[in-house]
Amino acid sequence: MKKVAISACLLGSKCRYDGSDNYDPKILGLLECYELVPFCPEDFCYGTPRPTMDLIDKGREIKVISNLTQADLTPPIKEYAKAFFNMNKDLELFIGKDRSPSCGVCSSKVYNINKELISTSGSGVMAQMAKSLDIDCFDAEEYLKLKKGI
Ligand code: SF4
Repeated sequence: MKKVAISACLLGSKCRYDGSDNYDPKILGLLECYELVPFCPEDFCYGTPRPTMDLIDKGREIKVISNLTQADLTPPIKEYAKAFFNMNKDLELFIGKDRSPSCGVCSSKVYNINKELISTSGSGVMAQMAKSLDIDCFDAEEYLKLKKGI
């Protein structure tokens, strides 16, 4: 069976920063022929609930920065992503939750160091790594539109 990596919150895991989920039965209905491989780097690295975080363009690199402490939260998320893709080398598809600084594929907000919005089409850390591995990557909303022809 083909495998799809998918943001766990889309499957109903209550792993969002505030303990809620992003359950989306429409997406699940489109993935019936796939084995689902869920992931949530933020819950694994920082627990739930947790302070929010954003992507900040630091010049050389876009980093995940805590909105509470301004700490750089990127390294553990990258380590999680590396381990996840090492353990799952046969993924055909990656579906990320839109706009997440970890999972968004082409929809994440990026700010400059003055916290001014500079892009709404950035990629989260997990999604960036999936793209670099040549896995087909989609934001959940984009995938839904594509498959439903809307
Ligand atoms: S968008 Fe990604 S990091 Fe955020 S709760 Fe969902 S799976 Fe976790």
